[in-house]
Amino acid sequence: MTDLLMQGVGMTSLRTRERLIQRLRDQGVTNLRVLDVMLNTPRHIFLDEALSHRAYEDTALPIGHGQTISQPYIVARMTEVLLGAAGGNLQKVLEVGTGSGYQTSVLAQLVPHVYSVERIKPLQDKARDRLRQIGLRNVQMRHADGGFGWPEAGPYDGIISTAAPQAIPDELLKQLAPNGVLVIPVGGREQHLHLVIREDESDHFVTRILEPVKFVPFLSGTSR
Ligand code: SAH
Repeated sequence: MTDLLMQGVGMTSLRTRERLIQRLRDQGVTNLRVLDVMLNTPRHIFLDEALSHRAYEDTALPIGHGQTISQPYIVARMTEVLLGAAGGNLQKVLEVGTGSGYQTSVLAQLVPHVYSVERIKPLQDKARDRLRQIGLRNVQMRHADGGFGWPEAGPYDGIISTAAPQAIPDELLKQLAPNGVLVIPVGGREQHLHLVIREDESDHFVTRILEPVKFVPFLSGTSR
């Protein structure tokens, strides 16, 4: 962990974060690397000051522009599904929907190279500052519609989306490396987490539908 990350962590009591991690365990999160990274990541710096005292509650919270920082449980769960399905073979991951940058920061401590796209420019700018503040330098960001992925930087061993489309964008599937893994919520009013794995080098994809979830919608285009 970087010194800055340590400082950020020091600002809230260890007990508060330990309680959150215990809650994640109680809900069935078992990946120790994920739990350890979340124990050591200062979620409060990804929130506006008025809400930062609620950072270690297991709940989604508003981050402005009609968006939310994801619930810690779902961050843990999606990261665990990604790591588990990729079988220790994750060099490069694309995230669609940077938002606050919290999920990005968790990924960046587990994967050597993280690419993250966000369609709302002010959210992206804030997230970039926060990642810099805690000393994470292995994240590339782009202001773009993630429906097109980030083809120039691909293919990816893993892709994670933190916004829910009605159907999985083809471009994301195309940008998966052989045996690459996509974790994405799909649906409208009713959504389910989907796990899609590219079979070797083929254009054949295996899909597993996991638990019901609730994410903000995956929107087209970008906004300044
Ligand atoms: N992981 C983030 C979640 C933020 S909410 C966090 O914990 O803070 C989802 C984000 O996805 C929002 O910031 C929203 O603007 C973004 N988003 C929605 N559709 C998108 C698209 N097509 N391309 C890029 N970002 C998108």
